[in-house]
Formats: sequence, C-alpha cells, structure tokens
Amino acid sequence: MKDTSLIKSLTVAHALTVRFGTILNLSELVRELAAAACELTQCERCIVLLADVENATLTVAATSQPPLPQLTFSTYNGSDPGIIAWLNHTPFAARQADLDPESLLASVTKTLQIDNFFSLPLHEADTLIVVLIVDNPHNHQPVWEAAQVLLGAVQESAAIALANARLHSEIVAERDAKMRELEMMRQIDRELSDTIRLGRVFDLTLDWAQRFTLAQYASLAVYDQPDDELRFVADLGYEVTLDHLMLLTAHGGIAQRVARSGAAEMIPDVSLDNDYIAISSAVESHMSVPVMREDRVIAVITVESRRINAFTDEHLDFVAKLASRAGVAIDNARLYSEAVREREKLSHILSEIADVVIVVGIDDRIMLINQSAFAALDLYPDQSYIGLPFAEALADTPLLQVFQRIKRSGQIVAEEVKILDQRTYYAEFSPHTDIGWIIVMQNITPLKQTDELKRELVATVSHDLKQPLSIMSGNLQLLQMTQLLDERGDDFTGRIEQSIEHMRRLIDDVLDLAKIESGIGLEIQPVAVDQLINDCIEWIAPIAQSKTMHIETDFAANLPQIAGDPERLRQIFSNLVGNAVKYTPPRGSVRISVEYLDHNLHFIVKDNGMGISPEDQAHIFDRFYRVRRAETEDIEGTGLGLAIVKRLIDAHRGQIGLESSLGEGTTFYVTLPVY
Ligand code: ATP
Ligand code: MG
Repeated sequence: MKDTSLIKSLTVAHALTVRFGTILNLSELVRELAAAACELTQCERCIVLLADVENATLTVAATSQPPLPQLTFSTYNGSDPGIIAWLNHTPFAARQADLDPESLLASVTKTLQIDNFFSLPLHEADTLIVVLIVDNPHNHQPVWEAAQVLLGAVQESAAIALANARLHSEIVAERDAKMRELEMMRQIDRELSDTIRLGRVFDLTLDWAQRFTLAQYASLAVYDQPDDELRFVADLGYEVTLDHLMLLTAHGGIAQRVARSGAAEMIPDVSLDNDYIAISSAVESHMSVPVMREDRVIAVITVESRRINAFTDEHLDFVAKLASRAGVAIDNARLYSEAVREREKLSHILSEIADVVIVVGIDDRIMLINQSAFAALDLYPDQSYIGLPFAEALADTPLLQVFQRIKRSGQIVAEEVKILDQRTYYAEFSPHTDIGWIIVMQNITPLKQTDELKRELVATVSHDLKQPLSIMSGNLQLLQMTQLLDERGDDFTGRIEQSIEHMRRLIDDVLDLAKIESGIGLEIQPVAVDQLINDCIEWIAPIAQSKTMHIETDFAANLPQIAGDPERLRQIFSNLVGNAVKYTPPRGSVRISVEYLDHNLHFIVKDNGMGISPEDQAHIFDRFYRVRRAETEDIEGTGLGLAIVKRLIDAHRGQIGLESSLGEGTTFYVTLPVY
C-alpha cells in the first residue's frame, strides 16, 4: 500500500470513528460497521457476528453483501481455540482448510462459506460483544496486512459505539416493556373499575394473572384474618370444583402460609415444599401473592405451572401489582354490595313505617315516596311517582301549597298539615344541600282528639277551681270591710289572703304546665332581645330594689331576633331572673348577658346567691321540686317555675343547662334559635 493511500485510509478511518459515535440504533450500527470494514480494508465482504456471552451464542447480525440469513451458533465449547482467541481479545487471520474440522469455528466458517479471512473481536471491558470477519469470497485473496492494521485503528471506537448502542437498545427495550406494562395496567384498571360485581372482579383478576404468567392453573381465595380462614372463590384450569378445592386445601397449603405472613412466595419446585397441597398432580411450580388492604391480607392469588421453575421475578412483580389493584376493586365491590343491601334494608324499613316519608330532589322531582304516603295523601296505589315533578305528582293534595311556601324559606320547618279536614299530620320539612328536601309526616289525628279533650278539661277545671277561690277572696274582702277586726283577726285574715293568693298561683302554674305539655301552639314570631330582657328587669325591679340588688346586662345592640312566642319568652326569663333574685341574699348581684353564635342566641343568667348542690341540680327541672335547706325555708314558691321554663324552652327547640356551686352562685345557660 502506498503512503498516500494509507493516509487516505487513515482519514477514512477517522471519519468512520466519528460517525460511529453518532449512531445509537444497534442494528443500524452493525450494518454501518460491516460497510465501513469493507471500505476500509477494501475486502469484498464483511460479516458482523453479535456475541451473547451469557447464553454462549454468536448470531449473524449484518453482512456487507450479499445478505446472509440471521443464523445463530452455539459457542458453548470452551476448548475451541478460535473462540478462545476472540474471548481473549486476539484478532487472527486463518484459512478454513487450516481449522480443526471438528471445531465450532470450522462449522461457522463452513456454513457462512468463509475461506481465507481475518477476524477482529470487539469487547466492552472484558465482555465480547462483536466479532468482525472480513474476507474475499470471489477472488479468494487473503486479507492484506495493512488492512488488518487499519481495522485495528477503528477497533476501539467501534467497540465503544457498539457498547453505547447496546446500552441504548437495552434502555429502549426496557422502556418499551415499561410502556407495555403501563398500558396493560391501565387496561386492568379500566376493566376492574368497570365492574362492581365481586365475582367479576375475581374472574378478571385470575384471568390477567394466568395470561401474564402463562400459568396453566390459577385460583383466588378470600381470607378472613380473625378466623384464619381461606375460602376459594374463583379458579381457572383445575379439573376440580370450588368445593372440592376447598376440601383439599382446608388445612394449610402454601396459600394459607402466604395469607398468614402477608409475603408473596415463589416455589420453583413444589415437590420440595412440605406445605404444598396438590390440587392437580401435573403441577411443578407455584406462586402465591397476597392481596392487601390497609396492612391486612384480604385474599390470595395463586398461579401454578406444569413447568418446573416457571415463574420469574417479573411475574411476581406483575401479580403483586395486579393484587394491589384487585384489593381496591374487591373493596369497592364489597362496599357497593353493602350499600345495595343497606339501601334495600332502608327501603324496606321506609315502606314498613307508619310515618310518611317523601324525598324531593334538587330538581323538584320525587326521589322517594313510601307506602304510607299513598294512604295519607290519597294517591293512586298503582302509579309510580318516582321521578315525577312534585308539583305534578301531588297537585291534588294540600301538601303542595304548604311545601311550596316552605321551600321559599329554605329552612327546616315543622307544621301541622290538615288533609281533607279529617286527618292532621305533623309534617317536618328539612332541606339538605346534596339531596333536596326530606318530608316526614306523622299522623297526629288521635293526639289532636285527646288534645281537644284535655283543652276542654283544663278550661273546665280552671274555671271550677278558680271560682271558689274568687268567692273566698271576695268574701274575705267583705269581711275586712264590714267587720272591725282586732290585731289577731287581721293576722288571720292576712294569712287566709296569702293562702288564697298562693292557691291561685299554684292553680295558674299547674294549668299553665298542663297547657304547655299538651303542646298548645306557640305563636312563633321575631322577638327583640333588648325588649324582652328590659321587660323582665322592669318586672323584677321592685323586688330587686327592696333587696338592694343590682341587675346588670351585657349584650350587643344589633343582635338578631329570636324565633319565639313573646309571652312565653317573657315567662322563661322572668322565671330565671326571678329565681336569681329570689335565691340570692340582699346586696347580691345578677347579670344577664346574651351572645349570638351559629344561628343561636346564647343567654346567660348568673347570680352570686346561695347556689344549688349537685344532687339538687339533678331534679331542678322536675315539677314541684324545691330545694329543702335552712336558707330556702322562708322563701315561697311552688317548685313549678323551672319545670315550666324547661318545657317552654323545649317547645322553642332550645336548650337549657346550669352550673352552680353552693354558696357561690348559679349560672343558667339558655340557647334559643334566631328567627
Ligand atoms: P316557683 O318558681 O314555682 O314559684 P320555685 O322558685 O321554688 O317556685 P323553681 O323556680 O322551679 O321553683 O325552682 C326550683 C328550685 O330550684 C327552687 O326551689 C330553688 O331551691 C332552686 N333554684 C332555682 N333557681 C335558683 C337560683 N338561681 N339559685 C339557687 N337556687 C335556685
Ligand atoms: Mg322560681
């Protein structure tokens, strides 16, 4: 070779080196390598053999021309000198005739019809990756020596480029595998989330497990941790029934072991595992993976193969991912069937109860209407009202008008609804943000009738009891006017007068209580807090002054109004403030404060009087209950005040409570809704 052509070839070699570095695709690179080797050595042909050291094979990856089939040769022959040379980084030239005819190299060269050749191994670190073979199949010339040198010049850069391309193709393959897996997982997610039937979830899960692992058999058992009980719910491939499967594996087995430990297991050879229970005698290897929910094993997925050592880490990884999805789906399906059961139970209860229940959706259509509603509202028993607009479905009933009025208020309202002047219902209408309105109606017709009776009784008794009292006090006044009484006489008549007064108050209170308890309607309207409190103070002022007591108030001017009956509210607070003054020694103090919070007004009536012991506090709201202590002996009262207060507050849907300690004072807390 002349110097100029050598320099030219070296320049080409350099250009090729640069070019190799830019090719990342492995098959493109080996093709390029074959072409470049021919150009550089000016040989007629170049063959690239790709080495797979792990599996001990050589595969034809590219030929300059004409193309050869992609043959693979097993190189598993440690004594072959040619192969040893390649593994040891040694290039060599040879003639086929000189090779040991028994050697692998001889069979390779023979098959590829290589006669007089030069071979160059390329390594990545110490691993053989490619063998380049150049020859002249037509003119049968040996490969000249300068060409061998030139090939050596690109050896290193070609090896690096090959290593990079191999790494790249591995990464690409890995990425593709990941993508495939992701796609598969997405598909699993789609299928699993499409179903809410537990049985379908089991079948889908097993199907995927079997398909991916290429197992011949698969089974799924749900696990009841408290009872340590495994129950088979699905299987694939076995020739036994589920019941039989259950019998076979009733005591232990690998699945049971996995259920207890919560750790997946791969058994490459079932004959070596003492716990193994054969369901099919053909099984050689086994894999069980737990399905977990919140640290608990809820099921076990098992796959079995007729091949020994059939399952890989990849299979395990896949089934574990499948198991975590199956866990969610099983949970969902269980929740769903529970919800369905609950709903059925609820609808059963609703249809059985005597109260009318109607649910009206946000779209004003009937979502639910129970059996009692049909009778109560005289609806057609055979018609389905679900989904009909409320206004249309209940057009002929008095409920419609009431509901339309209440709906505008947007608040919980309870009121009596009369139907055809025959029946009276106590109806509660409550709005719910996500549902709409729930209407519950109770038939109170019998109550109304008793109520009417009681009202009559109360009126009669009050008249009959009070009349003799009036006669007594009238006659007493006459006696005082017409007879001159001495001191003792005055004393007697004074006591009679006091007793009559006491009796009258007692009758008034008893009647009042009876009235309140019979639920005689409150006239609910907006009531101003300041007016109410001032009225009470004005009423108690003379007594407070006589005891040189001070009544303090503390509330903001702009408080919202109370929803209540003004007369009854006055009664409540007069009683509380009256008690505070009554049960506080002279020069004590009483303080009334009001605060607004969460649609309620919070009243506090606080005194620094004698206080109430915890035992007495428990009975303070009972009728006729009075504290019997030395300090209270001379204080008059019937013990009905707080009983009335409590019932009035209940009727207002309010609350009352107290805090007290003996000798220090008492605080009453009252909560009432705002208008
Ligand atoms: P009435 O109010 O019917 O005239 P009364 O005041 O005895 O009679 P309640 O108002 O029901 O009846 O009160 C019951 C008992 O609770 C009273 O007898 C009293 O001992 C006790 N009590 C009520 N309020 C206070 C208070 N602020 N301080 C101390 N004890 C009280
Ligand atoms: Mg009282």
